[in-house]
Amino acid sequence: MIIVMKRDATKADVEAVIERVHSFGLRTHVSVGEERTIVGIIGDERNLPVHQIERLNGVERAVPILHPFKLASSEFVQGRTVVQVGNVRIGGEEIVVMAGPCAVESREQLIETAIAVKKAGAQILRGGAFKPRTSPYSFQGLGREGLEYLAEARALTGLPVVTEVVSPTDVELVSEYADILQIGARNSQNFALLHEVGLTHKPVLLKRGMMSRLEEFLMSAEYILAAGNPNVILCERGIRTFETYTRNTVDINAVPVLKQLSHLPVLLDPSHGTGKWDLVPAVAKAAVAAGADGLLIEVHPRPEEALSDGMQSLKPDKFAALMRDLARVAQAVDRKLTLEAGV
Ligand code: PEP
Ligand code: MN
Repeated sequence: MIIVMKRDATKADVEAVIERVHSFGLRTHVSVGEERTIVGIIGDERNLPVHQIERLNGVERAVPILHPFKLASSEFVQGRTVVQVGNVRIGGEEIVVMAGPCAVESREQLIETAIAVKKAGAQILRGGAFKPRTSPYSFQGLGREGLEYLAEARALTGLPVVTEVVSPTDVELVSEYADILQIGARNSQNFALLHEVGLTHKPVLLKRGMMSRLEEFLMSAEYILAAGNPNVILCERGIRTFETYTRNTVDINAVPVLKQLSHLPVLLDPSHGTGKWDLVPAVAKAAVAAGADGLLIEVHPRPEEALSDGMQSLKPDKFAALMRDLARVAQAVDRKLTLEAGV
């Protein structure tokens, strides 16, 4: 439920409402808009005497929330959330591209890729140090060593880094290095992990589970928000369907739907979404045209040697060409993508 305050409600009116709601053991989230203030109610509302609240000074009305997610809901928060990472604003006018290898494989591989993606205009460097692999015999990532290389690549290029955390016990370690914590599709409903990253104030890139409905996806975001971390970025990465020609099926609907239902920034990952490098450009462009705030793209200098996801990784020259096309698509939909020559 949200309590919509009158335009002329005073600060004291708002505080009285908050106090009354708290007296029923519920929490509040206040959103101060240009026109009016909204007090969102968090918790089990069954015993809340709504009519009493509506009688308080300055209250216009109490409105039930249609969705089970609250803090993630566009009904609860006025305007769009911009997640700030260093100088990069995710969810603003600018389309933010996060690019880099699937996995950090070596110092040289990462630094070579970091320089290339920066030159092409990427604003964030990606690379997995802890890899959630289907087989226990596949390359699992370099762990702490990989995090060290990411920090080195950041120091060299100035690009903030996003990297995955796969276990609640690793959150502290990964947070020491990462600018953005990535929660992968396989952990999208690992509620203990979501809660743990929610206790940090690091921005979180939350990927959609391959079997998650959009409502479930937003409930995952809700776990992070409810633990106190407001910096959540949503990422559609394709879902499982009967179609097997592509690795996953990109749900392009997710972009406008998530932007309708939520105030959080929405990214799309065309690499895992398609599983095929030659399909990545078309889907990347479609995502920007559909209103995505950014993209997550895998780039490898020698995909044929990649230890994971070589099939879907773009070579640097193809990535640079895509960035030029994306800048034109962005302009066509009144967004910006700056192709900044790099290091
Ligand atoms: C990744 O981004 O490298 C990754 C493992 O993606 P997903 O969790 O979407 O499969
Ligand atoms: Mn990958």
